[in-house]
Amino acid sequence: MSARSEALPAELLRTLRGIVGPAHCLVREGELFAYECDGLTLEPQRPLAVLLPSTTEEVAGIVRACRAHDVAFVPRGAGTGLSGGAQAVDRSVLIECSRVDRVLEVDAGNRLAVVQPGVVNADLSTAVASLGLFYAPDPSSQQACTIGGNVAENSGGPHTLKYGTTTNHVLALEMVLPDGETVRLGNRVGESIGYDLVGAVVGSEGTLGIVTEVTVRLSPIPAGVETMLAIFDDVVAACRAVGRVIRSGVVPAAMEIVDRRTIEAVEASVYAAGLPKDAGAVLIVELDGAPVGLPSQIDVIRTACEAEGCRAIERARDEAERKRFWRARKGAFGAMGRLAPDLYVHDAVVPRVHLPAILERVCEIADRHRLKLANVFHAGDGNLHPNICFDKRDPDELSRVMRAGREILEACTAVGGVITGEHGVGVEKRDFIHLVFSDEDLEPMFRLRAAFDPEGVCNPGKLIPTTRSCAESNPKARGYDAVPFE
Ligand SMILES: Cc1cc2nc3c(=O)[nH]c(=O)nc-3n(C[C@H](O)[C@H](O)[C@H](O)COP(=O)(O)OP(=O)(O)OC[C@H]3O[C@@H](n4cnc5c(N)ncnc54)[C@H](O)[C@@H]3O)c2cc1C
Repeated sequence: MSARSEALPAELLRTLRGIVGPAHCLVREGELFAYECDGLTLEPQRPLAVLLPSTTEEVAGIVRACRAHDVAFVPRGAGTGLSGGAQAVDRSVLIECSRVDRVLEVDAGNRLAVVQPGVVNADLSTAVASLGLFYAPDPSSQQACTIGGNVAENSGGPHTLKYGTTTNHVLALEMVLPDGETVRLGNRVGESIGYDLVGAVVGSEGTLGIVTEVTVRLSPIPAGVETMLAIFDDVVAACRAVGRVIRSGVVPAAMEIVDRRTIEAVEASVYAAGLPKDAGAVLIVELDGAPVGLPSQIDVIRTACEAEGCRAIERARDEAERKRFWRARKGAFGAMGRLAPDLYVHDAVVPRVHLPAILERVCEIADRHRLKLANVFHAGDGNLHPNICFDKRDPDELSRVMRAGREILEACTAVGGVITGEHGVGVEKRDFIHLVFSDEDLEPMFRLRAAFDPEGVCNPGKLIPTTRSCAESNPKARGYDAVPFE
């Protein structure tokens, strides 16, 4: 393939304007500025153009036109991704799906919905609530992020512990392949016949094509819900309590830990929920199911938390209080904006038994690099979010952030963990993929990607290294030590 164009070819621009209309083809500097990055703000890159299609046919037309001019393209939802997946690297155009945003069908009898990719996650649950149903995967960004982005990242959320991640809730897909052809994968009954191509696309980070329709499972709203706040003097004890709960056999709907620094930020923000500011950490535990079964489970949670020195346990007295707890948890990343201008959200996962020791290690790493750390995470899944608060204008601090980040990932993978639980690899973790995969492990992934996109035009530079060598994906081997996203 030839070297890609530095600017959008004039003929391509005319074609794209013809497909989506001039108002939905953004090319002015001021318009493109807003699309330089997603939630990973470290290395902004300006796209050649941003296209805002409103139908599958328009998406397919854009893809075919870009292919004809050898211009790469990047699918984008709401841009809340935290690994740079929706960033336009390699002089590409962004295809933003926010206008492809209709709920096409709700089938309450079969508990499914057919939606377009631009539907906002939380809006889907709102749309089906009157039928006693909800869409279970609930990323903390659910007020903004889209179902298309969730499919691409296989997103999770607090309730992943009981309900599973996005992949457990996707039955079928329509997608535009990188050559412009539109295909349908999967079926409404969720039976996999032949190769599980839906499974391959979910979590593929927009590298296999552009998802234009998603058939999702809906779940019944549970009859009973109990939400508790267990207050601990230190975050490691809270982690140990999580292990005890899991060993007890009770499966809560969610178990989330919020540490002291996060509590301080939340309580100073619009998300304040009355969390105790003198606590080392709070553990939010939610149980759901038939009301008759909940009291005995509450006892199990109480016993497990008390065994680890929990100071007190509060139960949400009503739905308003429960919502306040969750608003505090889900608003935590936003509240951290009070702590520093920049936030680096890490996303490793460790086997749950290692959670207490890893938390200690993560705190030690941050202290040694003189960094401000705030933890808020899906503890029940072993999914850590060490959030490093910093100022990227300070090169020394930025370099320490990067070194600490690498040490955190190395510590997690050394105990059998992985480098991302839900935020994806994107550009951010591509350089760390050698921590979990060998060249041989990566080979089938290269082949799968090439089967969908032999020309490498769909979201290039994301997820797997561009060349077939772990040496390239290892930043040390490439002779650099500071900022990984080149
Ligand atoms: C405050 C905050 C909290 C968060 N909490 C969570 C959490 O709890 N759990 C979690 O999993 N994530 C979380 N995230 C990360 C992020 O919100 C999710 O990854 C989300 O799924 C991204 O959706 P999006 O619509 O913003 O996608 P984008 O960021 O726009 O894109 C993400 C990826 O999806 C691809 N993509 C987008 N649309 C399509 C499409 N139609 N077809 C193919 N590929 C597509 C893009 O190319 C990119 O690779 C959080 C982010 C923030 C900012």
